[in-house]
Amino acid sequence: MKTILKTLAFGLAAGSSLVSVAAMAQDYPTQPVTIVVPFSAGGPTDTVTRLVAAAMSEELGQQVVVQNVGGAGGTLGAGQVAAAPNDGYTLLLHHIGMSTAPALYASLPYAPMEDFAPIGLVTEVPMTIVARKDFEPASLEDLIAYIKENGENITYANAGIGAASQLCGMLFMDALDTKMTEVPYQGTGPAMTDLLGGQIDMMCDQTTNTTSQIQAGEIKAYAVTTPSRIAVLPDVPTMAEGGVENFELAIWHGLYAPAGTDPAIIDRLSQALQAALADETVGNSFAELGTYPVPADLATPAALAEKLEGQIGLWAEVIAAAGVSAQ
Ligand code: ASP
Repeated sequence: MKTILKTLAFGLAAGSSLVSVAAMAQDYPTQPVTIVVPFSAGGPTDTVTRLVAAAMSEELGQQVVVQNVGGAGGTLGAGQVAAAPNDGYTLLLHHIGMSTAPALYASLPYAPMEDFAPIGLVTEVPMTIVARKDFEPASLEDLIAYIKENGENITYANAGIGAASQLCGMLFMDALDTKMTEVPYQGTGPAMTDLLGGQIDMMCDQTTNTTSQIQAGEIKAYAVTTPSRIAVLPDVPTMAEGGVENFELAIWHGLYAPAGTDPAIIDRLSQALQAALADETVGNSFAELGTYPVPADLATPAALAEKLEGQIGLWAEVIAAAGVSAQ
């Protein structure tokens, strides 16, 4: 009898908490939502996130706040969100690093496929090989010869192991079979400040961080990593034009919640993301920065889950082939 009563009491308690979870999902969001950017403010991931957050905020009728948690190539911020309450109020906007980190770190504080609930893809951004404006090489061909000759005397900024800038530099150095001196930052926002100040020689970074500085002549651009030239930087050649074959890199971004978040909340967020990406202001701002929002059918949990899984496998092979060992 005691057991039956206990079971009944448990059933009632569980039932009422189920009701309150459902009610929570229906009312969601009732307070500001935070999107963690795992890099410094002012960098490319931050820029993309702030544009999307402002539009999502209108759609959700709640403030969407951006919090920068830079460090360790994005793995600190991602780890923080993996461990956050799965109530829909702490999200992560991360890029390709979500898929490269498992191959680059011997141990990670999270498992990308298990510890997150994907919400949707956001954008794909081309990379640019850039340098301080008085850097000696005049063209991509000159740059390649210069790097081969000067190797480790050249300083190369990145946002730490697991960052897109580190991935691009790693692939570039591998393609040229040489090494430069890597200088890690918490994001490429501060790295850009040093590039502009001439304290660092080179960087490979997203157009969302480099386009306006290239257009203003404040930094030199040697190449874009897309198969064809891009509209906002028509004078910048592709890697293939400079003789670097099979070097194509687009930095995809995704929005995630911690695993176990109510599917109704994930659905609400995915719809808000789709609406944000269809917003004209977001579209125009993205275009000015050399990128574009993904179509609505990719701003979905299924599309992001598929992308992430495929990319984890792909990068594990590429990174192993480049002979880079996990840290
Ligand atoms: N996009 C940069 C990188 O991964 C980081 C940042 O957004 O600051 O290199």
